[in-house]
Amino acid sequence: MRKPLIAGNWKLNGTREANAALVQGIVNTVDLSASCDIMVCPTFVYLAEVRALLAGSGVLLGAQNVAAESEGAFTGEVSAAMLKDVGASHAIVGHSERRSLFGETDAVVAAKFQATQAVGLKPILCIGETLEERETGVTMEVVDRQIAAVLDTAGVGAFEASVVAYEPVWAIGTGLTATPDQAQEVHAHIRGVISAASAKIGAGLRILYGGSVKSGNAPELFAMDDIDGGLIGGASLDVAEFVAICEAAVGKSL
Ligand code: PEP
Repeated sequence: MRKPLIAGNWKLNGTREANAALVQGIVNTVDLSASCDIMVCPTFVYLAEVRALLAGSGVLLGAQNVAAESEGAFTGEVSAAMLKDVGASHAIVGHSERRSLFGETDAVVAAKFQATQAVGLKPILCIGETLEERETGVTMEVVDRQIAAVLDTAGVGAFEASVVAYEPVWAIGTGLTATPDQAQEVHAHIRGVISAASAKIGAGLRILYGGSVKSGNAPELFAMDDIDGGLIGGASLDVAEFVAICEAAVGKSL
């Protein structure tokens, strides 16, 4: 049985005050003894402070991005070792906003994935198709290409200590959500690709869904066999919404 994971991607949002209120709301409201992992991913500058706010709660800390390089003349970059140093356990790599707005190629994403694992952090590899790609019927080819970029360089063993997030680009921040069947179809395909290389690693891999998840659609999405939780953007900034989404994931694990 895979333990569900709900990860809140706060994106470019937050203040010290707002972060404290959000963390307090999550820690005080969610039943953290329940069998669901919960994570928040603030911007880099707030990681250490949020780590302190989360102390003893069991809520995990993730970064939204990571450098492919480990040190040196890379102004503005943050290395995986630095993220580990301030208490992060995970780093999101290849979010569609990084791919589309900051030009991250599959090769760059694969390098970030490996840099993250090299220091013992777990990458959350985001993959997914654009609306045009879905409409032209190449969704599976797109996710295959994005997975292959990592699989071919890091090997299937790398997926044992990682998480995959299927995030159809057309559903991120748009209010459009993949139907549970649409999402399940792609999740099952992703698991099949990894399972073809290692049945054990494929069976154990947590595959999150992301794209306008809200408290209203979370239960039906999480009810699908191959959806092991969610990567949550907008709704993760609202305590009541985020907590309700976590509770929907807890419901899956019961
Ligand atoms: C995301 O940014 O990963 C995301 C899924 O955003 P939203 O939930 O707002 O669509």
